[in-house]
Amino acid sequence: MAEKFQDHQIRDRIKIEYRYTMGGQSKFFIEVMKNKKLFGTKCTKCGKTWMPPRINCSDCYEPAEWVELNQAGTIQVSTIVWYTTSAFIKAIPYGIGFIKLDGAETALFQGIFSENLVPSKIKKGKRVKAVFNKEREGKMTDFFFVPEDEYENWISQPEFEGGV
Ligand SMILES: [Zn+2]
Repeated sequence: MAEKFQDHQIRDRIKIEYRYTMGGQSKFFIEVMKNKKLFGTKCTKCGKTWMPPRINCSDCYEPAEWVELNQAGTIQVSTIVWYTTSAFIKAIPYGIGFIKLDGAETALFQGIFSENLVPSKIKKGKRVKAVFNKEREGKMTDFFFVPEDEYENWISQPEFEGGV
C-alpha cells in the first residue's frame, strides 16, 4: 500500500540586488535627479516633440534630439487611485493621469497629488505643475504633478521643491 505523500515546506526569503539601465532614456532621469528639469525629444525630421522621450520618432523612425520642456501642462485624462502597491499605499487616495506638458505633443503618465483630492481638481483640461522630491534617485517617483493653484503650498513643504 502506497504511503500518502506529505509535502514538507520551509518558508525562506530571497533578496536580490541588481541594476538596470534606462538605456537611451538615461538623460531624462539624470536631468530629473540632478537638475530638476524635464526633457523630452524632438524629431529631427518631422519636428514632433515626444514626452516621454523617444530616441527615435515613432511616426517617421528618424532620430530625435533632446529638448527641455516646460514643467507645466494640461491633464488629458485622469483617475483616482484607491488600491495600489505597498510603495504608494500611504499616498492613497491620489490621482494618476496623462499630462501633456506645454510644448509636447504626447502625454506623460504620472501621479497627480492634491491637498484636497476630488475628481474636479484633476479632471481633463486642468492645469498642473511638476513638484520634485528634495531627495531624488533618478526615478519616475522623483516628481509628481499638482494643480497649479496648489503649487506654492507644495514646494514650501520641507520634503519638496520646485523645478528650475
Ligand atoms: Zn518624426
